[in-house]
Amino acid sequence: MLPTPVLKTVSEIYPKPEEGEPRKPIMRISRFIWLDGPSNPGPSLAGKPHCVIWNTILYGSWILEGGEDGLDYGNRIHKAYAEWFHKTNGSLYDDIKVEVAFALAPLTLRPDILYGKNGEYGIVEVKSYGAGRMDEALPQLSIYVYGLRTIGFNITQAFLVMRDAVVGESVDALYKMGEYQFKYLRDAIRMPPDKPGRSCFKCPYALVCRIPKPSLFS
Ligand code: SF4
Repeated sequence: MLPTPVLKTVSEIYPKPEEGEPRKPIMRISRFIWLDGPSNPGPSLAGKPHCVIWNTILYGSWILEGGEDGLDYGNRIHKAYAEWFHKTNGSLYDDIKVEVAFALAPLTLRPDILYGKNGEYGIVEVKSYGAGRMDEALPQLSIYVYGLRTIGFNITQAFLVMRDAVVGESVDALYKMGEYQFKYLRDAIRMPPDKPGRSCFKCPYALVCRIPKPSLFS
């Protein structure tokens, strides 16, 4: 049976944002910041509006001014947590993979930590935000459970590590949710949206988006 890892919240491992080199954006136009070019879509798009999914695939990652620090902080948290996980739990497992990519067309799955022993595996997904945003984190975790099981990993444990909570979820329930979320995302990727999904005024893609807007915005 797969040993259960020792897990702590993000706040316990990495309590304060440290000063780091700010990431240089590809381009900045007014308050719109282009952070990453397009790449193969992944489960982090789960739960996003159809129009945002489509624009992220076409144009890469955009944020509105003010969001850069959060992303840098997130990157540092992931690195710190993976190092801590290795030190704390490394002896329990015969395989630990950190952000390794697996293909499940049309998605690329890149779970934060995949640990295993004797052919059984568990997933740890790390989030810099708190448990109040669990609804955003669960669809992504569910796609990892569904996707990795589909490509042959015997996933028997799945955890969300958040700023203020560690949550263990039923893998069977996650598998069902992930099957639904994967199909929704796959269809959204294949089919362009015919209208905006939410307020364009607050959207970082407003500068590049070509989806027809209500007359108020155009
Ligand atoms: S600008 Fe509007 S239509 Fe385009 S992605 Fe953003 S919310 Fe959707």
